[in-house]
This record gives sequence, C-alpha cells and structure tokens, in this order.
Amino acid sequence: MARLIVTCAPPTSNGDLHLGHLAGPYLASDVFTRTRRLFGDDVHYISYSDDYQSYVVRKALAQQREPESVAREYGPLMGETLAKAHIKLDHFMHTLGLRDHYLEALRTFYFALRDRGALLRQRVTVPFSREHQLWGYEAFARGTCPSCGEQTDASQCEGCAMPPDLTRMRDVRCVIDGTAMEWTKVEQLFLNVEANREVLSELYGRAPFRPALRQFASALLGAPFLPWAISRPHDWGPRVPDDPAAILHTWFGGIAGYYAASREWANSQNDEGLFTKYWSDKETQLIHFVGIDCAYSHIVAYPILLAHLPVAPTVTNIVTNQFLSLHGNDFSTSRGIAIWANEFLDEIDVDAARLYLALRAPETTEQDFDLDDFRKIINEKFATALNQAIERLPHAGTGNFDAAPVSTSVGDVLQNLRQRFIDASAPATFSMNAQATLLVDLIDLMASVDPAQIRMLVSIYSVLARPIQPGFSGRLARYLGLADEWGSSWLVDGGDLPPAARSPLEGQVPSIQPVASEVISKFRSRFEAAVRAA
Ligand SMILES: [Zn+2]
Repeated sequence: MARLIVTCAPPTSNGDLHLGHLAGPYLASDVFTRTRRLFGDDVHYISYSDDYQSYVVRKALAQQREPESVAREYGPLMGETLAKAHIKLDHFMHTLGLRDHYLEALRTFYFALRDRGALLRQRVTVPFSREHQLWGYEAFARGTCPSCGEQTDASQCEGCAMPPDLTRMRDVRCVIDGTAMEWTKVEQLFLNVEANREVLSELYGRAPFRPALRQFASALLGAPFLPWAISRPHDWGPRVPDDPAAILHTWFGGIAGYYAASREWANSQNDEGLFTKYWSDKETQLIHFVGIDCAYSHIVAYPILLAHLPVAPTVTNIVTNQFLSLHGNDFSTSRGIAIWANEFLDEIDVDAARLYLALRAPETTEQDFDLDDFRKIINEKFATALNQAIERLPHAGTGNFDAAPVSTSVGDVLQNLRQRFIDASAPATFSMNAQATLLVDLIDLMASVDPAQIRMLVSIYSVLARPIQPGFSGRLARYLGLADEWGSSWLVDGGDLPPAARSPLEGQVPSIQPVASEVISKFRSRFEAAVRAA
C-alpha cells in the first residue's frame, strides 16, 4: 500500500467552473484518487481556491467591486460546483482572509529558501500603467511571448507554458484599454532556479510525464533557467514575510496552499498527526494534476521549494492535460463562451457527465466537447444499451441463471478488461480516457453475450465504474446485492472471477435517463450567442 498526496490545480475565484475546467485536472484528480483507493492506497486529496490571483483583481476592476467581494462570491461557488460534480476532495481550502495555516505555510517555504541562500534580490525593469496605476504582471498586461511569439498575458504563456521574460516581452499593453505600458525599475525577489538544476534534472529523469510535459521538461533543461520572480509590487495578496512592502507572487504560494489545506483539514479532524503522516515523510508520493499552461510552477518551482524543507514528500508525477474546446471554440470565462458546470449538472445526470468528460478528456491532445456527440454517446450507450442489459437481469434471474459459470470466451474478455483497467490506473500510466473507453467496450459486450452471462458483466461494470461513476456504480452494486468489497480482490490480485451474488434483484432499477434534445438546444443556443457576440 502506497501513501499519496494528490493535488489539483487551485481554481481562480474570478468565476465559476466550466466543463473545460472539469475535463482537465479536476475530474482527473478525483478519478485518480478513487482509483488508487480502490487498489488499497492511502490517498490524501486536496486543493484550494486561488483567491489572490491577479485575475480576481481584474474581474473586480471590470465590475467596479472590491477583489475581496469577487473572491467571496466565487470561492465558495467553485467548492459547491466541485461537490456537485462528485469531485470529492478531503479539503478545499479558501485562501481569502489569509488565515494562520496559509500564512504559516508561506513563511515555512519562504524562510527555508532564504536561509539556504536560494533567493536573489534584483533590480529589474517592469511594465507599469501610470494612468490606471497597474503593474504589468499576470492579468494586467498582454504582449508577445519572447519564447514562442504568441500573444500572452504576463504570467504564463498559454502557447508555450513559459513564464514570459518581461524584459524581452514585446508590445506590452495594458489590458484595461490596450495602451502601451511604460517601463520602470523595481526591486524584486527571485528564486535562483539555475542553482537548483540538479533537483530538476533528477526529477525529470525519473518522472513518467505525459508527452507534452516531457517535451517541455527537456526544453527547459536544454537552456539556463531564468530566475523566477516570487514577489511583486502589487497590493492584493500575502506580504513577503520579512519585507512587508512587497507582495508574494500567487504562484509562489501554490505549494504552500496545498500544504496549508492539509494542515487545515488535519485540524478539522482534531488530529495533527494526519498532517505529518502525509507531509513529513519522503516516502509519501506527491502527485499534482494541472493544465499544461500551469505546468511551470509545478515542475520547476515547487520541487525546488520542497527540496529546501528538512523533510518533504517526494514528487513522483505531474499529470498534465491539454485544452478542451467547445464545438471548436476556446472556452472563455470572460467572454461567456462556456457551458457552466453548475448549470449543466442541474440538467444532466452527474455520472453521465463524468463519463463523457472522461471519454473526451484532453489528456495528450486537444479534444472537443460536442453537445450532439455527448447526447449520442449517453443515449446510445447508457440510456439504451446499459439500461437494456440491466432490465434483462430480473427475467434471467428467475431461472437457474445465477449458477451459470462464466463462459471461457467471456472470462477471457473480462481478464483483458481487468488488465486494461490496471494499466489505466497505475500512477505512471493513469488515464481516465482509457478507463472510460473500457466501460463503453464492456457495455458493447453486454449486447452480444448469452443472457446467462449478463449478471456477471453488469457486476463487473459496477466495480470498474467506481472511479468514474461513483454514484451509479454504487446504486448498481446495491441492486445486484453485491457487498462493498465484491470484486476487489479479483481486480487487485487477479485469479478467478468471484461468483455473482445470488440474491434476488430488489429495489429500484438503477438507470441513466436519456438526454433530451431540448436540453442540448438550450446549452447550445447560450454559448452560440456568446460566440456571436465575441
Ligand atoms: Zn509562449
């Protein structure tokens, strides 16, 4: 049994979550956590709302509100949406208010770096809008990325994932009105990344990154690392512990956010030992889930920050995703080109949504969310094929069906599915795409086997669907009379298939409702209006 900390990237509290967010690190980290627990691992799963992002300030400026009121509105809303999607974190912390756990965690990492000489103080030239009194960081400036030539904000390039070197960024303009920013000298603190190259080359040499991240890591190692700014002249965020005039960069606080979320959770359980069990042991495996555009902090800064603690968990993987598009359009919170997860889950069965998002998750390449494709898959595979298989059960069960042994051919197919599930579940090769695909294959198999075999196939479905469809698989297992642990030892250790339960089928037949065409039209017309307006 392994001990794991699983994190998912902190969502920014400048809007609610849309389906593009869910299909990225959020659903994946939840499915991974449930999967590893199914295999007996001890998994601690955390995230937090990134309330001190500059995008919160930008939203506040646009709506003529205080940043605090924006974060206070969206932080809890995001937590509700995650819960509604059955993304079941141990704890979702809110950084707003800078409570003790978070400040203490920031101090822990900051002083660990400072005291071991990992910080540099440099006088640098940065963009500034005199008219709007805004520093040209992150959300407030856009310009041409010096690394890839794409248009980017001044934080992390969506084109190449590099934090743009501000001094080499061209055509830097203020986001408020598009005017050119002026340049002014400030003193900033930087993490000396190059001095910690060995920490990174050791990690990149052993971690099983997905192809895009592998390529990014190789490119990073191929050039000198630039110092990474950890402070900002700014006024929204936690202050540098020994320099109250400066604000810590929100991405610096990322690993501290995870650390503090665990501490807050342990305190809520009245058991400080829970925190140390996970964080004060290098045997603990730390696995991050992030979008590829946020990868830099997680593959460069955080491993170095952790390496400066006296004892810390070992980063074993950073699982990245590419982007999901919506009928060929980029999801855009600010322009309203999105399907909001909260509204979608009001109309759509959560387990149907989770399955489709897992099937179309952009794990290694960009994928598209298409409402018609969604309706077709859910209606054909779930509302029809799987429901029909389940409806065939009571009739078959009235005879001596329960005693029917699994045929050799079906047994072979199930062993093959088991192996595919194991491959899709390992920390190094995890793929919710692959898990979802094998569930669909299992449904297809149900239509083609002898009726006497269906109870076993549906029983196996209830086991393999636990990570992606926790609600539905639980209802199915109860209907089939299966104990909680039914199938677990077959899944983990192999061997013969367990006998299907012999109990009569009782209670409400679990089913997934078909998706109505009116629901699809409603969501479609909403985002299409936003596309036309953009
Ligand atoms: Zn770029």
